This record gives sequence, C-alpha cells and structure tokens, in this order.
Amino acid sequence: MTLILLPTLFDRIRIVLIATSHPGNIGAAARAMKTMGFERLVLVEPKSYPNVDATARASGADDVLANAVVCDSLEQALTGCHYVFGLSARERTIPWPQMSPCECAQYSADHSEAEIALVFGREHSGLTNGELEACHYHVQIDANPNYPSLNLAAAVQIMCYELRLAGAEGVVKGDVLPAPVEELERFFEHLEQVMIDVEFLNPEQPGHIARRLRRLFLKAQPEKQDINILRGVLSAVQKRLRSNT
Ligand code: SAH
Repeated sequence: MTLILLPTLFDRIRIVLIATSHPGNIGAAARAMKTMGFERLVLVEPKSYPNVDATARASGADDVLANAVVCDSLEQALTGCHYVFGLSARERTIPWPQMSPCECAQYSADHSEAEIALVFGREHSGLTNGELEACHYHVQIDANPNYPSLNLAAAVQIMCYELRLAGAEGVVKGDVLPAPVEELERFFEHLEQVMIDVEFLNPEQPGHIARRLRRLFLKAQPEKQDINILRGVLSAVQKRLRSNT
C-alpha cells in the first residue's frame, strides 16, 4: 500500500499582507496566525520590515516573522496558488463573487489539495480594485455597517480562527484543481492582446470589458488543460491575423 501524505490545511494556507504601513501590525498578524496554527506569512512591499515594533508585537511568534517571505508584487506572492481570497470591508462597483469567512474556510478545507492565499489590504486604503480582481472571491467580515473596518491583525485573527475550525474536520477528497493563478494571468494578458489586435477593445478605453471577462473566467475556474486550449485558440487567431496582413 502506498501512503500519500497530503499537506494539511495549515500547510496549504498563506496569509498575504499588502503594503502594510505599521510594522506593529505585521507582528500582531504573525501572533494571530501562530495562535491558530498557521505559519506562512507573505509580505508584499511592507513599508518597514524587519522592524523592532514588528518583533515586539509578535510576542513569541518571532519564528513566523523570521520565516516571512517578502515579495515585490502581489503576482509574485500568489505564485502556485489555486484559490485566492481577497479580504475587504468595502463593496465594489463591479461586485466580485463573495463568500463569508465561514464559507471561505470550509471551501479551503474541502479543496484538500489546493494551495490557498488570503490577501489583506493596507491599513488606510485596503485593497485596490485591481488587487481584488486578482482574487477568486471577495470575503467580507460581517461588522457594524457604520464602522466596518477592523484592525488588520484582528481581521487576520478572525480568518485564521475560522480556518482552524474548518480544518479540524480534516476532510480529504480527490480534487481537480484549477490552473494556478500565474497561468490564468498569462491567459488574461493574451486575451486582452487579441481583443486589441482584432480591434474589439480600444486600449485607450478598455471600459469594463476586460474586468468582466476576468470575473467570468475566475468564476469558471478553468483547469490547466482548458487554459491551454484557450491559449491555443488565441494563438490561432493571431497567426491568421498575421497571415492576412
Ligand atoms: N480603510 C480600509 C480598511 C483597511 S483595514 C478600507 O477602506 O478598505 C486593513 C485590512 O483588513 C483590509 O484591507 C482588509 O483586508 C482587512 N479588513 C478589515 N476589516 C475587514 C472586514 N470587515 N471585512 C474584510 N476584511 C477586512
């Protein structure tokens, strides 16, 4: 009998903090993670890191801080992820598919072979539209509608707690994984280029078209092979265009 050891939910989750201003919040987030059993912290362009305030607020979770991975871009931070959840208190003009914290946690536990990222925004301005649009789902923590913005580390704490509750059940089931996000990004770039080449999209005024198509494909969760087929179609269109000119 072959014994296959699947990574646990705790190994599969990375917590991504974008452009955190206050290093104390990075430390407090590391502490929040460690209390719930999570270790993989990714920092995208932190304003100041490493920093003594981060270490002080980590209060014994120094190992999580010391092992934090620092990245130059969100794209780099999400490499290899199959599902990405964006945490934001705010509604958006083009609403993104939503999940509650509990649904997000259950979904993460159920997709037992998937690499998963939870993305948190800046203290002052949260996530940009573009950053949220790199995510499959928008997760809002239900809060006072007149004062919905939690401290960054408090938001990390709630999500890690929900994940812990869901992960404790230890669901294991066969999974067909969607293509990792970096392959989806290459496809979006290719699609946009072809739409420009066939003069369907004006690069000066892209409007909402690219954004809506991005949402459509993120919802569909195409597999690697589906992406290969779509890219093949796009390349065939480009080849024909070139032969016509
Ligand atoms: N003023 C910012 C909020 C920043 S709070 C804004 O308008 O978006 C810092 C981060 O904590 C947010 O980007 C988000 O990732 C998380 N967060 C805070 N409150 C939240 C809530 N109610 N739901 C989901 N995420 C929240």
